[in-house]
Parts: sequence; structure tokens; C-alpha cells
Amino acid sequence: MRLVLCLADKREWKVDDFTSLGQHGINLRRSHLVCIACGGKAFFRMSGRKGMPSFGARHVAGCKVLNPGWSAFRYLQ
Ligand SMILES: [Zn+2]
Repeated sequence: MRLVLCLADKREWKVDDFTSLGQHGINLRRSHLVCIACGGKAFFRMSGRKGMPSFGARHVAGCKVLNPGWSAFRYLQ
């Protein structure tokens, strides 16, 4: 995923912006992340797919992010 919602500051974060917060800013927020579509618990990985920072989430069934027909959200997967 490329975008998550942080409940601590009520902001949507792109993975690049989130990474640039640095260790302290990341640690303040990383336990407050949820999927922007379903509200499922999300998390941040410094080395995800391809060794790049990324977000992941435990989506609820039927989450729009997981629906391939939802083209606007396709880039978030
Ligand atoms: Zn979701």
C-alpha cells in the first residue's frame, strides 16, 4: 500500500512522506495507522517489497483496496 490514515494526527500519509519523518516521527505514528478504505489495522515496514519502505494492512473482507475493479485504489495495493 502507498497510502494510510494515521489516527494520531488525522492525516493521510504517503509512504515517501512517512519515511521522511525519521525514526522519531515514525515511532510516534506507526501504532496508529489504519487502511484509508476499511479502517483495518495498518503497519509500516522499512523494507517491504523490493526492499523499499511500504505500508501493509489487515484489511476487512471486501475492502476496496483489495478489489481489483476499484481502479482508483489500484495503486494503493
Ligand atoms: Zn483496507
